[in-house]
Amino acid sequence: MPRVAYVNGRYVDHRDAVVHVEDRGYQFADGVYEVVHLFRGRLIDEAAHLDRLDRSLRELEMDWPLGRQALQVVMHEVVRRNRFATGLVYIQVTRGVAPRDHKFPHDVPSSLVMTVRAIPEFPDDMREHGVGVITIADIRWARRDIKTISLLPNVLGKQAAAQAQAYEAWMYDHDGFVTEGTSSNAWIITTKGTLVTRPSGNDILQGITRQAILKFAEELDIPFEARKFSRDEAYNAREAFLSNSSHFVTPVTSIDDRVIANGKPGSVSVTLHQRYLKFMAESCKIA
Ligand code: PLP
Repeated sequence: MPRVAYVNGRYVDHRDAVVHVEDRGYQFADGVYEVVHLFRGRLIDEAAHLDRLDRSLRELEMDWPLGRQALQVVMHEVVRRNRFATGLVYIQVTRGVAPRDHKFPHDVPSSLVMTVRAIPEFPDDMREHGVGVITIADIRWARRDIKTISLLPNVLGKQAAAQAQAYEAWMYDHDGFVTEGTSSNAWIITTKGTLVTRPSGNDILQGITRQAILKFAEELDIPFEARKFSRDEAYNAREAFLSNSSHFVTPVTSIDDRVIANGKPGSVSVTLHQRYLKFMAESCKIA
């Protein structure tokens, strides 16, 4: 069965999904995106992703390509046509097609592309053994709260991780404090059992999974502090994990080749992951 993509008003065979060479996303990375988890036919935290898309668009003074509800209809239609139960939906909006000029074009509609890719339900290996991360300097711009398609530092970081046989790279700021991963938020549990992640601001992306985890931590009475943590604190943490919409809560068992605690996924990470799975199962029931 062929994969179907949506490109500016048309559902097309994925192999034929193309954008114009003067699309500003292609030439300037002048665009934003979202990745939504499709779990057993349901879009997880759909409203929160669309709220963040709205915020990214507003921050960059970019128009919605369609009304929010119309965009949702397209999203569900792309999912329906692809017939995947579990996968990732990718939504990209750019400032449209115009002759190359840095300034915003006038009266040009924004471009909209959507694709869906099937993924396996849960990579048990990652869950059972955890993953390794390396740390690298954060060389990104100052508005990391906007989910822009301009991802070159993230690409370089993930490649550096892969070359070091690690799963992710955690980036650190000028003072040595961890900001986030190249495609995930970063968390530790201190030796005293406190869950810590960097406060939201312009220096990290406000992950949708991060928001959900914060709610669950409160509900489960897990002590929590929103504050910066250093690489050294992370090396000595009781647990560490990363979060994103693709893999929810993923335990981190080594950082820069230093084993975290006993090298096994920690109990708080496992509890939060289980809680997240429950939330996903509930989303399937009520949606
Ligand atoms: N931080 C960065 C830089 C990301 O790219 C992502 C996800 O792609 C996240 C954090 C986690 O965000 P979410 O939980 O919304 O997937």
